[in-house]
Amino acid sequence: MSDKTIFARIIDRELPADIVYEDDRCLAFRDIAPVAPTHVLVVPKEPLDKIENMTESMEGLVGHLVFVASQIAKQEGLTGFRLVMNNGAEVGQSVFHIHLHVLGGRSMSWPPG
Ligand code: AMP
Repeated sequence: MSDKTIFARIIDRELPADIVYEDDRCLAFRDIAPVAPTHVLVVPKEPLDKIENMTESMEGLVGHLVFVASQIAKQEGLTGFRLVMNNGAEVGQSVFHIHLHVLGGRSMSWPPG
């Protein structure tokens, strides 16, 4: 049994996904259970379980994820969008390989639930 996360398996093409963007540092694909008309996940190819464990050397990578997310939002025609990164099961993290949710296409309330 592999100890790879679902996202590592998608990156390695062991599992299918609806991929919308790829480069040497990240992969973006549509969430399998979307909570908004646009719900894309931007996932670094280098695995890290939680954003709290990021090191200073990863600043560029994490900035890149945000840049890619903004380009995807543009590509999807979104004028307003929300970027979310859950850290910890208690706030809803379920896959322990960091990822940025790009959410848009409907109005959203604040604060989040
Ligand atoms: P989080 O709860 O922040 O860790 O987000 C994990 C997200 O991954 C959830 O929104 C899930 O719906 C999504 N997800 C889980 N498995 C897959 C999959 N095989 N393909 C696409 N998205 C997935």
